[in-house]
This record gives sequence, structure tokens and C-alpha cells, in this order.
Amino acid sequence: MVAAAELARAGWKVVLLERNPDIGGFIASGERTLAGYTHDTFSSWHPLFVSGPAYASLGEDLARHGLEYRNTDDVVTASVAEDGAVTLAYRDPEATAAGFANPVDGQAYLDALERFGRSAPVIGEMMGSELRSIGLVRNLARFLKSNGRRGSEEWLRELATSGRSYCAREFTGTEVDHLWVPWLLHAGLSPDHASGGFLLPVLAATMHGFGLPVVAGGSANLIKAFRGLFDELGVDVHADTDVDRIVVERGRAVGVEAGGHRFDARRAVLASVTPTALYGSLLSESPSRLRTQASRYRYGRGEMQVHVALSAPPKWRDPRLNKVPLVHISDGSSSTGIACAEAEAGLLPSRPTVVVGQQFLLDSSRVPPGAGALWLQLQEVPYGAGWTPELARAHAQRAIDRVAAHAELDVLAVDVISPADLADYNVNAVGGDPYGGSSELDQSFLWRPLPDAGRHRTHVKGLWHIGASTHPGAGLGAGSGHLVATTLKRS
Ligand SMILES: Cc1cc2nc3c(=O)[nH]c(=O)nc-3n(C[C@H](O)[C@H](O)[C@H](O)COP(=O)(O)OP(=O)(O)OC[C@H]3O[C@@H](n4cnc5c(N)ncnc54)[C@H](O)[C@@H]3O)c2cc1C
Repeated sequence: MVAAAELARAGWKVVLLERNPDIGGFIASGERTLAGYTHDTFSSWHPLFVSGPAYASLGEDLARHGLEYRNTDDVVTASVAEDGAVTLAYRDPEATAAGFANPVDGQAYLDALERFGRSAPVIGEMMGSELRSIGLVRNLARFLKSNGRRGSEEWLRELATSGRSYCAREFTGTEVDHLWVPWLLHAGLSPDHASGGFLLPVLAATMHGFGLPVVAGGSANLIKAFRGLFDELGVDVHADTDVDRIVVERGRAVGVEAGGHRFDARRAVLASVTPTALYGSLLSESPSRLRTQASRYRYGRGEMQVHVALSAPPKWRDPRLNKVPLVHISDGSSSTGIACAEAEAGLLPSRPTVVVGQQFLLDSSRVPPGAGALWLQLQEVPYGAGWTPELARAHAQRAIDRVAAHAELDVLAVDVISPADLADYNVNAVGGDPYGGSSELDQSFLWRPLPDAGRHRTHVKGLWHIGASTHPGAGLGAGSGHLVATTLKRS
């Protein structure tokens, strides 16, 4: 959507094809439980979007078409452990550090944020640009200049470190682990995956800097704003149009076919798909190395979404949680690590990390007056088939029970979206993976999506690969669409 808007604004004639009845992919909202309750069906939190270059480019245009955000400037996220211990993060890093039992840890936390802040511009530049390009050499030189040899090596070490090990090494207490390790799930990682040590300060700094913005009135209003902008720019949107083939003539992508109907493309085709689809079915021919690598592309754990309508806001046993937009129920690396291992072994975790979204605290229009709602996310569920509605409902109840151990809830209605439902809704969520493929280090950065295709320009002239399966990966940053649109506008 970002690429379509940016190219159309630069004067390109753009056709946007979507197989679902509406555009938006994993951005949607609606009354999924009861009348008067608006739930973000899938994604909800937009720190990646508002902190990224795509929003800097399109934010004002989308605002003209009705996009508004609601955010917090106080407490932003928290974790609650099995024994009821709570760790809180505020927008203010100092207030957050002041809550740590050992002042040495508080200072180490502030130092880690400060260190990230110094390198943030060049890290941001690398995340937003083509890694396999001469630009990388320039960025690495900048990085080396600002961090020195030793400092740069430290970053490299962070990249090789898991979140669990980073916290154990850098802090004496458990607060940073408790607070931020569950956030690695939102990056598609586990506490024991490499690159967690790099991502933890990035996640923390993003939350301190940008909070947890949600779309006023529900995520569908972002799609409405895009629709308005598309109408203004003349983007030709075709929903219910499943592209089954990319047409290549003399080595160049010249259009696509959907159900026998051909759409011609004079300048470029951008495909927001998985490598499995691109090299496995959409292109009839590709080099065998690419096809082999695509066939070995790994998907990550599955994900479940549970929407709960409440007669009143939850009454948390620790009342500080009554105003936190997003709470993790987790003991940090220990319980989240076990739950991830269970899910990766094909088991349903007995003590899942529950992501508890309380969007209604930021946006009262989401629920009837005096009511409450929960957006529960379970990111440690097995990848693949075998899901029945009964199994999904039982696991959802396990999650609700885990919340009820910490808060009084008066549940009126529940809506459950299983990994199988995710995969049915969006072909990019293979096996229910919400992030378009595992985000482990070997499938990220230079190697996303594939070692031989670690950039957005493909081996077919005029064909560009974008979306969560490509650098800089999953989430609502729209990084790849913006990057490719920017490159194409310059060409
Ligand atoms: C439940 C859930 C919660 C999440 N929460 C958050 C969150 O709060 N914040 C955050 O930043 N991220 C979140 N994410 C991740 C984020 O939503 C995704 O990473 C992001 O939506 C990926 O965007 P994308 O542009 O790659 O495309 P997608 O959202 O995957 O959209 C791709 C679109 O292309 C269409 N398509 C694919 N193939 C074809 C074809 N052949 N023909 C026609 N159309 C096709 C699909 O139908 C789909 O509409 C969440 C994901 C899920 C599933």
C-alpha cells in the first residue's frame, strides 16, 4: 500500500491487486465479539510505522484522509510474573530505570539506551536500505567511524547474543529480562535466538521514543485513509483478484495474470509475497539454486489471536496495570523460553506468554461506555496444521485463565483466531506464521529472504520482491515498500 501510494504520488499509473475482498492484509478491525466493541482483528500497535520513513513520507497525506493515532505518554508496557511481580516501562527511560532494584542496573539500562541512541541514525539507515549494495560499505564506514573498532565489535557481539544471555551478562537483576525479553516474540524470535541482544535495546528505545500508537477508532481506519489517498491519486484497486502468475517475456516482468485476466505492467511489478510463492508458483522459471533455497525457506511459530469483550475494564490485582496499554504475562526468559521450546517441539505450552492488549485505555471509542476489552496474542503455538476450532478455543481459555489469575474479568464474549484461520486469511502466513518466515539471524539482514536473493530487485528485470519475507522483515514499518518505491522513483 505504501509503495502504491508513493509511486502514484510520483506520477506512476498504479494497479493494486489483492486476493481478499478488502485490501490491508493483517491490518483490519471490526466488531468481532459484540456490537459496540471494535477489535483490531490482527495487528494493532504502530510504533514501527510512525517511527519509520514510510510514515514520514505519507503521514500527512494519510492524516488528511482521516488517520489519527492515540498513544500514551506515561506507562507504556509491563510484565507480570507468575508470582505477581510487576515490572513497568514508562515513556521516560529514567522513570523506568528508577524502578529497578539495583541502581547499577538502572544506570546500565540508561547507558545501553544512550549507546543505541548514538548509533540509531546509521542503524536506521541500514535497516531502511538495500544491504547488498555499495551503500552498505558507506554505512559500515560511518558505523565504524562513530563506534570505533571496539564499539563496532561490541555491536557484532550483541548480534550473536540471545536476549536471555544479553540480560544475564549486562544486568544483575531480572527487570530488563522480565520487561523486554517477551517483546522478542513480537520480532518473531525466542529468548534463546541470536540477535536478541541487538534487538532488546532497539525495542526498548522504540517504545520509550514512540510509545504504542493505535489507530483512533480501529485499524480499519488506516485502510480507509489509504483508500481515500488511492482515490485521490488514481490508484486502481482490484480486490478479490488472486494473482496466479507473473508474466515474464524476454527476461522482463511485463505483467501478471489473475484467473486468466492479464494486467500489463510497463515499468515494474512489486510482489508482496513469500519466497515460497514467488519462486514456487508465481514465476514459471527461476534458477535452480533459487528454487532450492526457496524450498528450504523456514517459517516460524504459529500465532493465535483472542478477542474478549468485558462488561467492565479488568481489575488487575496490581492496580498499576490498570493503565498499561500492553501487558505481558511472563516470567521473562525462563517461562517464555520454555513456552517457545514447547511450541517449536509441536506442543501447546502449559504456561504461554500472554500478550494482553488494552487498547480501550488509549481509545475509549473501542468499547461501550464503562466497558473493557482485551486483545490477547499467543505467539508460542506450533506452526502447521492440526488445528481444530475446539483445540483453539481450549487454548484460548488457557490464556484467559492466565489473565484471570492476575485480574478480575467479567467476560461477555470471546472470538478466537487460530493459526489455521490466519493462514486461510492471508497466504503469506504460511502455517499460521504471522511474520512471513522465521526471523532468526540466518534468515535476516543479508540473507532475507534467501542468500542468493538478499535484495528486493530480483533476477527478473522489472520484478521486485517486497513484504515481511524481505529485508527489513516483518512488522508494520512498510520498510521494503518504501525502499523499493524510493529506488524506482530515482530510476
Ligand atoms: C495477529 C497479528 C498481530 C500482529 N501485530 C502486529 C502489531 O501490533 N504491530 C506490528 O508492527 N506488526 C504486527 N504484526 C505483523 C504485521 O502485521 C505483518 O508483519 C505485516 O502486516 C506484514 O505486512 P506485508 O506488507 O508484508 O503484507 P501482509 O499484511 O501479509 O499483506 C499482504 C497482502 O498480499 C495479499 N496477497 C498475497 N499473495 C497474493 C496474490 N498472489 N494475489 C493477490 N494478493 C495476494 C494478501 O492477501 C495480503 O492482503 C502482526 C501480525 C499478526 C498476524
